[in-house]
Amino acid sequence: TIKGSKESGKTVDKLAGGLLTADFNEDSCLSRYHKSSLYRKASPYKPSEYLVFKLRSYEMLHKRCGPGTDAYKKATESLSHDEISVGECKYIVWIAVYGLGNKILTLASMFLYALLTERIILLDQRKDISDLFCEPFPGTSWLLPLDFPLTDQLDSFNREHSRCYGTMLKNHHAINSTTTEKIPSYLCLYLIHDYEDTDKMFFCERDQDLSRQVPWLVFNSNLYFIPSLWLIPSFQTELIKLFPQKDTVFHHLARYLFHPTNQVWGMVTRSYNAYLSRADETLGIQVRVFNRRAGYFQHVMDQILACTQREKLLPQVASQVITTNNTSKTPKLKAVLVTSLYPEYSERLRNMFWEGPSSTGDTVQVYQPSQEMYQQTDKKLHDQKALAEIYLLSLTDKLVTSNSSTFGYVAQGLGGLKPWILYQPKNLTAPEPPCVKAMSMEPCFLRAPLYGCQAKTVRITPFVRYCEDRITGLKLV
Ligand code: GDP
Repeated sequence: TIKGSKESGKTVDKLAGGLLTADFNEDSCLSRYHKSSLYRKASPYKPSEYLVFKLRSYEMLHKRCGPGTDAYKKATESLSHDEISVGECKYIVWIAVYGLGNKILTLASMFLYALLTERIILLDQRKDISDLFCEPFPGTSWLLPLDFPLTDQLDSFNREHSRCYGTMLKNHHAINSTTTEKIPSYLCLYLIHDYEDTDKMFFCERDQDLSRQVPWLVFNSNLYFIPSLWLIPSFQTELIKLFPQKDTVFHHLARYLFHPTNQVWGMVTRSYNAYLSRADETLGIQVRVFNRRAGYFQHVMDQILACTQREKLLPQVASQVITTNNTSKTPKLKAVLVTSLYPEYSERLRNMFWEGPSSTGDTVQVYQPSQEMYQQTDKKLHDQKALAEIYLLSLTDKLVTSNSSTFGYVAQGLGGLKPWILYQPKNLTAPEPPCVKAMSMEPCFLRAPLYGCQAKTVRITPFVRYCEDRITGLKLV
């Protein structure tokens, strides 16, 4: 059985408070059940009973409608003939675009949208998604079969495509439920950071009534659009039932959906056991920089030190050797996990704490798993390292992240951590203050619609705020 059991003296809640189904074979995915809870502290946030109920209903729906079923066959046949299918199954297709953090946030957003609209999600598997994540739904697959009729078109669903909703609106081809105008068999939603006002109409109540009738929705997105779903009145009532604690949406969805494959899990556990498990305290520092000019390194480094010392996350390095033996206190081992594409930040930190003693007498150990140097999205091993590092960051006690980075957002959400966010350095100096503690662990919707139909709800909804690191972004608090 895989209910809560005692292992190495620790009670582990393998099903994460009911979030996970018990219907999987344990060895198929080591990260899914107890293996994961041995590394992670139990989350203090419990999923609502209603969320658990909806997840189990979703799993049944996915089994009924997923690949290989008669329903799927019927729905894809009608799609080939551009006809409306009449079955009970409606679908969302995810196109794999942008970096891993972007992908994970978009998948979580789409999955919640699917829960709200009784659809199932299917994932474009032409890239490396199945090398990264285990299947989350039992007895079926979340991968879109490669012979899906629109596969060859997936890469063409850009902003100008005539089947994308914003473009249709621009060309005055709005689908209209009150006229006899034909409802399309599929619709593309272009929700990429450079989308336009007509694309943003997707987040309007009235437009939801229309897209609800379309059997296939294809999402071309790289955004965490959940905050704006809360601003659609008909969804808000349901969302409050699902997530009475509003700032736990991504935390629960991520723990439900994203289980690293055994290969990635091996990387996570080897790092964890070698560098983090014996520490008294762990600190994660995510350094995402887009500039490698000589001066830039110094002021980002200054900023990291200013932030970690001001917030008492790291001790200072004493200027002279401390001779008095402070025996009243046993020195602690502090492990610092740095993630970055570049090696120089962790090298400087490691040297600092080797060259001089820490002011508190504590030992500081600095570790950086990889230095990939440049982003190589969709390359299997590169992406696996990125996922392993996101996961490792999420296992730390305290976390410092770089502003506006989806990589950091995923780590904080998975870990249930409110990070200290490093502000964007401006004018070649470290900003003052260097960092700010996040209001909540939720990711920021970096390009949220703020005007049009959502203008009023943005103003009157107290739990959706402007992000700390992006004044025009929205996040749940
Ligand atoms: P964002 O661009 O910061 O929002 O995050 P994304 O994850 O969407 O895209 C950045 C990509 O660059 C990652 O997915 C990785 O491929 C790579 N990358 C950036 N920072 C790191 C890092 O600290 N470690 C590793 N291994 N890869 C990184």
